[in-house]
Amino acid sequence: MLKIYNTMNKTLDEITPIVPGVVKMYTCGPTVYRDAHIGNLRSYLMADWVRRILELQGLEVQHIKNITDVGHMRQEVLEQGEDKVIAAAIAEGKTPAQIAQFYTERFLADEANLNIHRPMELPKATDHIPEMLEITEDLVKKGVAYVVEGNVYFSVSDFPDYGKLSGNIHEEELLEAVRVEADPNKRDPRDFTLWKAAEEGRTVKWPSVFGEGFPGWHIECSAMSIKYLGREFDIHTGGVDNIFPHHEGEIGQSEAFTGKPVVNTWLHGQHLLADGVKMAKSAGNSFILSDIEAKGIDPLAFRYLCMTARYRTRLNFTFTSLKAAQRGLHRLKNRVWEWSSLPAGESVDDEAVAEWNAKFLDRVNDNLDIPGALTVTWAMAKSRLSGQTKLAIIRESDKVLALDLESVSEQNQVPVSVQATVQERAVARGRKEYTEADRIRRQLDADGYVLQDTISGARVRPKAAWEKVDEARNTVSSAAEVPSLVNQPDTHEVTIGIVANNYKEDVKRIVESALKWAGDRDAEAVVLDNGSTDGTSEWLDELAATEPRVRVIHADHTLGEGAAKNIVLKQSLGRTVVLVDTSVEITGDIYGPIDHYLDRDDVGVVGPFGLRTDDLHHFHDGEGESGNMDAMQAYCFAFRRETLRNVGLMRESFRFYRNLDIDFSFHFKEQGHQIVADQSIPVVLHEHRVWSELAEGERDELSLKNYRRFLEKWGDRTDLLVSSHESNGHSHPHGHDH
Ligand code: AMP
Ligand code: ZN
Repeated sequence: MLKIYNTMNKTLDEITPIVPGVVKMYTCGPTVYRDAHIGNLRSYLMADWVRRILELQGLEVQHIKNITDVGHMRQEVLEQGEDKVIAAAIAEGKTPAQIAQFYTERFLADEANLNIHRPMELPKATDHIPEMLEITEDLVKKGVAYVVEGNVYFSVSDFPDYGKLSGNIHEEELLEAVRVEADPNKRDPRDFTLWKAAEEGRTVKWPSVFGEGFPGWHIECSAMSIKYLGREFDIHTGGVDNIFPHHEGEIGQSEAFTGKPVVNTWLHGQHLLADGVKMAKSAGNSFILSDIEAKGIDPLAFRYLCMTARYRTRLNFTFTSLKAAQRGLHRLKNRVWEWSSLPAGESVDDEAVAEWNAKFLDRVNDNLDIPGALTVTWAMAKSRLSGQTKLAIIRESDKVLALDLESVSEQNQVPVSVQATVQERAVARGRKEYTEADRIRRQLDADGYVLQDTISGARVRPKAAWEKVDEARNTVSSAAEVPSLVNQPDTHEVTIGIVANNYKEDVKRIVESALKWAGDRDAEAVVLDNGSTDGTSEWLDELAATEPRVRVIHADHTLGEGAAKNIVLKQSLGRTVVLVDTSVEITGDIYGPIDHYLDRDDVGVVGPFGLRTDDLHHFHDGEGESGNMDAMQAYCFAFRRETLRNVGLMRESFRFYRNLDIDFSFHFKEQGHQIVADQSIPVVLHEHRVWSELAEGERDELSLKNYRRFLEKWGDRTDLLVSSHESNGHSHPHGHDH
């Protein structure tokens, strides 16, 4: 029987349902003010596998997944009265209920496309306010909650078991929450909201004995899990970020209410990452299922991709790995197609079926070892069993894998005329008319069909959408797949490095002005087209076709800023590299002055816009001065390419441009290079579109994240600052005691 890792007791639990034969499982569902991203979907896939594995073994699974359509949100934001469903409704000119309905339907469509079984119920938070209030009132009565001015708080210190799931290891998040909210009504900063009084003008609110208001975030899951599954149930799932505070809060509420543990096994899935960090809308690295479909990739390729890693390990999503998963899925389906095309008269080896099914079950039952189960499936596929035997085995396995493997025969059907063409080719080959046979094959290919020669003759199938996309423009999916030329000798005097993401006119302005002022210099421009969609890509391709100095690399989606710039750095071959931003226009010879500075051994980086700081917290633009700086801004950032060999590339965890230049500058400083500004370098700054397009809140959030990243690494390196050298003079030795 299935064993899964229980976050509560940190051991493998064998799932023995409380009610024999019926497993009750609750899954924290989506917040429906936007599309679920594929990271969220990874968590739902995990729950789907649990359910399918149990069902394969004859158990009934009562699965509940809630729909958060109010009061969701990180607790501290909630306590400021912000509600994302309401915010989205205002932004889109709809009612909160319409927004919730719209995104609920899209969520269910995404799940269906991933073959995630529909749960028994999808209860909505807004339909369960009375149940939430019942628990809240009870907690107040029991003294585990208190009321202040219409707000109800859970009193953490009155629930001794608080922290038993997360082990209180989350001080950092806790402190962060405390910092931003500072709710004076709370007795203890750890206390969280059960009910929040409605602020002036709020429309989404309910009456209660505490006055009009709305529920906190955790209470909905206590109310709905108990209502649908009872005061004791078997499994509760979520992503690891749910452990604290959400599930810790839920445990406090539910257990204080019922007086005993409610959930037997807590199951948490690790995150899906993108470009190395947790996929999240706010990090700007999230993808939704339709992004995948837009590339012609089968959503089930994402399901297959998730099967290649165990749920307790992080999985880094890239389009490269997704394409690999698509090919893996395709190869597996191709096998199934082969078996189903064999004569049906073959006998089925029942013993082998039982044996392979047992091997498969053994893997999935071992804490959801889906990668292991996939390995078993592949070994079976490659074994010497008969086609019909293999089909019988795969039919069972696919109840868990859910890759629609047997639908392949249907998908591969082609019109009779195409079959006839294949026959013609066979005849031509029989007559040894190979030129004609080849012509027919090419014709089929051009018409969108793939011919496969097998021992039992030629077969034809329609080309899959992803195969067609693959043939189109050469693109890259990540910086990792781009070869580094950093150690190769220089082949140009200068590389102009540009990352372009839409705003064609800006891109044009910088590329043209940079090339114009390069004059007779042996220059190359390396442009990374970072997933543009407004015609910039096409313009760049046209330019590169007629302008030999320009080389364009297209990213198949928008990469993080660090990764995008690293592709440019890796592909540069100039002695000097000048990185320029698309908001910049070059208005004179910048290359002469740049080389003049870089000829000095002590100078590592030069550009017009330097930054100084005295404390690493406040950066200012060097008082309009030229001279030694602590950092160079990315508008125009020049250095010798060879210095990259010891300085290294940029940190790709910086997805947003801000502070990435400062961070990179410190890499130079750490290696003993000086950073020099010269304001007479002739460039003009135009509107910075990336910045001006962002909403204020987004700017702050993204900037703060990058700034934290910077501080974490360099926070104690005041020894690197220009000011510390000036005040200490040059007689003090420093920098070697860290
Ligand atoms: P939310 O809509 O933000 O409440 O998240 C829905 C579910 O997705 C929760 O169970 C989260 O723990 C989970 N989740 C959020 N981000 C990720 C991620 N990057 N990878 C996997 N699961 C995630
Ligand atoms: Zn929940």
